[in-house]
Amino acid sequence: MDNSSEELKKNCPLNKDCDWNFKFNSEYNYYDLPIYKCNTCNLETIYPKDKYDLKTMYEASYYQGNQAYSYIDERKNEKHESYVWDARIKNIMKFKKEGKFLDIGSSFGGFLSRARSFGFESYGVEISNYSAKYANDRGIPTFKGSILDANFPEKSFDVITLIEVIEHLDKPDLVFEKLASILNDDGLLVIQTANFDGSQAKNKGPKYHYYLPGHLYYYSLGNLKLILTKLGFKNFVSYYGVDFPLMAKLKKSRGSFKTLLDYLKWFKIAYYHLQSKLFKGSTSSMVLYAFK
Ligand SMILES: [Zn+2]
Repeated sequence: MDNSSEELKKNCPLNKDCDWNFKFNSEYNYYDLPIYKCNTCNLETIYPKDKYDLKTMYEASYYQGNQAYSYIDERKNEKHESYVWDARIKNIMKFKKEGKFLDIGSSFGGFLSRARSFGFESYGVEISNYSAKYANDRGIPTFKGSILDANFPEKSFDVITLIEVIEHLDKPDLVFEKLASILNDDGLLVIQTANFDGSQAKNKGPKYHYYLPGHLYYYSLGNLKLILTKLGFKNFVSYYGVDFPLMAKLKKSRGSFKTLLDYLKWFKIAYYHLQSKLFKGSTSSMVLYAFK
């Protein structure tokens, strides 16, 4: 075996003695990412990780679609995004009704400003200068940088959310440790990412659209629970698909509709949503709620 295995073991969020092996080069789009997989726990990663320049990735162009890999600028569509944000916050409130709410990867602060309107005390962490500044200017206290550099005291948050964030982390082992330390004993950790145990990921193989530059680790419901269990989390509620009702998704989608024909997309959205719920594990979307 080449020396990739030793280096992969070092940053592994699970076991430092995992059995990493080359799996394939991804075939989604032109990215051609070298993917390694642990045969013990099914965790996957890109190796080496420096094929694309991540340092410049999250500045303004990330939100304007000019880069190889970009993110939709939520500010153009806050009203429609809010249908999903509100629905998610209402679901979180089944477990935690108040307190300090930290969103990591908080972008322009839209989700946090909704959390505040429901009575939470909102805080953000955002790696992008561009969006962190916007969030602070609108009054959402946002630490600009990595969560690893933020000086939050131990046990200071009641809810911590990472929505499509953990796949971006290059030192997930340290981040998971930090999350466990800054969450209150009766707090709730919410993680959304793709579930690589789902049939969607398995069937698409190297063509799966989640293999993107910037997505450094690929998890499954199983190994995510293992990682968190090692850090003292004991109770889990897992959602296949998403943690809020279909209606919120349908209402949100209208934000990008231009003609009546676009409403046909509702069939596709509804089909995916129902498939996730009725045939658990058939799609690769998941949200995990974890409690210590
Ligand atoms: Zn492993």
